[in-house]
Amino acid sequence: MSQTLQSVRGMNDILPDEAEFWEIFEETVRSWLKAYGYRPIRMPIVEPTPLFKRAIGEVTDIVEKEMYSFTDSLNGELLTLRPEGTAGCVRALIQHNLAAQHPRRLYYMGQMFRHERPQKGRYRQFHQVGVETFGFSGPDIDAELILMGARLWADLGLEGIQLQINSLGQPAERAEHRSALIAYFEQHLEKLDEDARRRLYTNPLRILDSKNPDLQALCAAAPKLIDYLGEESLAHFEGVQQILRDAGQPFTVNPRLVRGLDYYNLTVFEWVTDKLGAQGTVCAGGRYDGLVEQLGGKVTPACGFAMGIERLVALIRDSGGEPALAAPDVYLVHQGSAASRLAFRVAEGLRDQGINVLLHCGGGSFKSQMKKADACGAPFAIVIGDDEAATGEAQLKPLRAGAGEQRKLKVDDLAESIIGQLIDSETVGEQE
Ligand code: ATP
Ligand code: MG
Repeated sequence: MSQTLQSVRGMNDILPDEAEFWEIFEETVRSWLKAYGYRPIRMPIVEPTPLFKRAIGEVTDIVEKEMYSFTDSLNGELLTLRPEGTAGCVRALIQHNLAAQHPRRLYYMGQMFRHERPQKGRYRQFHQVGVETFGFSGPDIDAELILMGARLWADLGLEGIQLQINSLGQPAERAEHRSALIAYFEQHLEKLDEDARRRLYTNPLRILDSKNPDLQALCAAAPKLIDYLGEESLAHFEGVQQILRDAGQPFTVNPRLVRGLDYYNLTVFEWVTDKLGAQGTVCAGGRYDGLVEQLGGKVTPACGFAMGIERLVALIRDSGGEPALAAPDVYLVHQGSAASRLAFRVAEGLRDQGINVLLHCGGGSFKSQMKKADACGAPFAIVIGDDEAATGEAQLKPLRAGAGEQRKLKVDDLAESIIGQLIDSETVGEQE
């Protein structure tokens, strides 16, 4: 016997009970984005490998050890499953000259791939909602992006997600801080782990992003980038904070927040919960004014964020959220060949009227069909036997207690009666 095939480790199936949660989440996200004027963009899942190396930076966790890269066996091209969406979005922006006329507010949702050690909240295929803006240079858009997060948490019924912000300044300011950082870590060489030692002269800022608990005290005492910022960078940072304060949005300035990708400058931020264990960051982003030019486009200020859908859905589930049961309005029971032919017609006719119908398929006794009708959660069953079929009628049977008696109706009158009763039960629900 052949071995049963399994999904790739760290890449999960999302089964119907869970997927319904995802759909509700996605609907909430889409209407939230619309409320702020963001427009969708969809990029390929596979991009040329050099795109990510150039955008994310060679000396980063993602590029050094997390990318699924391969050579296209047909033409030798180096390709990578996208580990994040910003690089592809910027590539598309440049390729299609999207920011030429006016600034852009864009979003996308979809799979990302990183070869990490799978654990709760960390997978090898995961999903992000990414939000990117192009052509806005002031602190107002940074603040808008941050405050949007707060509204989404409220829309999703989530509480206790904390905001951390920092400023990474500009490249020249970072260069000065970098020298100070190298000098500091050189004095503590014996305490550095292998990763940190390797990065000491290539990307010392990344050491601050280390997840190694043994390095935390050392990193906490390291020179702070914020002390190296010039007037303009400080003014931008203050501008963001002012808008957050005006909006009554609490935040902490975390000088160690440096983000795991090289393209950021000025504002960076993360939304963090303590309810998901070690994988507590549900949303992260910042400004990346240099990236468009770095990838071959015209200088274009940019700012954005990405949120992890698995982590947010887990948070919604942990906080007791249940999706409204996606039950049909009607389960259609039928038996006998004339009845079955009529049932198909009735089902389509009801759907024309906007009624969701689960048409019984696969035969079986009335009794076994009625069991399925009861189990599916629909408020009504329609029952058609050959007697009913002969007169063009059907039994309409309420399935919920107190919803009235079974009635025989002309099939053409079913829709009106069902819609009437659905509306009645909704208004009753609202009064309760
Ligand atoms: P972390 O520090 O947790 O590794 P990151 O800085 O690598 O996160 P980003 O690249 O900023 O993450 O991605 C944005 C968001 O995407 C994260 O805040 C998280 O919610 C989610 N995310 C990142 N990597 C994974 C993963 N492997 N599995 C599930 N979600 C992830
Ligand atoms: Mg990571």
